[in-house]
Amino acid sequence: MRGKTESATGGKKHVKMKDIAELLMHALAIETEAVERYAQLADLMEAHNNYETANFFLKMSEIEQLHVDQIADMIKSRKVSSAPLEKYRWSTTPEGPESTDPADLHYLMTPYQALVLALNNEQRAHDFYSSIVTSTKNEAVRRFAAALAEEEEEHVAMVKVWLDKVPKTPEDWDYDDDPPAIQD
Ligand code: ZN
Repeated sequence: MRGKTESATGGKKHVKMKDIAELLMHALAIETEAVERYAQLADLMEAHNNYETANFFLKMSEIEQLHVDQIADMIKSRKVSSAPLEKYRWSTTPEGPESTDPADLHYLMTPYQALVLALNNEQRAHDFYSSIVTSTKNEAVRRFAAALAEEEEEHVAMVKVWLDKVPKTPEDWDYDDDPPAIQD
């Protein structure tokens, strides 16, 4: 794990959660992004005819969708006003700065690389919720952030288990002897 704490949103160093409403809005953005990205990774793996890994990503997408539903329910029941929030983005490079373009997912990406990417982002989500647990003074926020952090920790573990099952990426992973005719 890296030493520095990165904020999961934008470039801000720390997001101070003043109340549960703010946490819910962030959590909704984070979990929605995860649902979309997992669906995207599933498509990508399917395009490689790697149905096993595609199914794993579909399952993860469904799990994250449950989170989205739960959080959306809480937002509704608390009548939280949906203040505009910058969109949470997955990082598409394991160590680099945040990328904002989903097209950055390389079409030849191997299952191993896709899983490393997922692992990195599950870890970021976990670190984000954990940093709230330690920094907030609001007890309700702390408890909910702790629950979310715990679930993200489970996701990290699930991705790690799957990562052990796939071969490491070969050096020439981006060599394509039949490149796609149309590229945008
Ligand atoms: Zn997750």
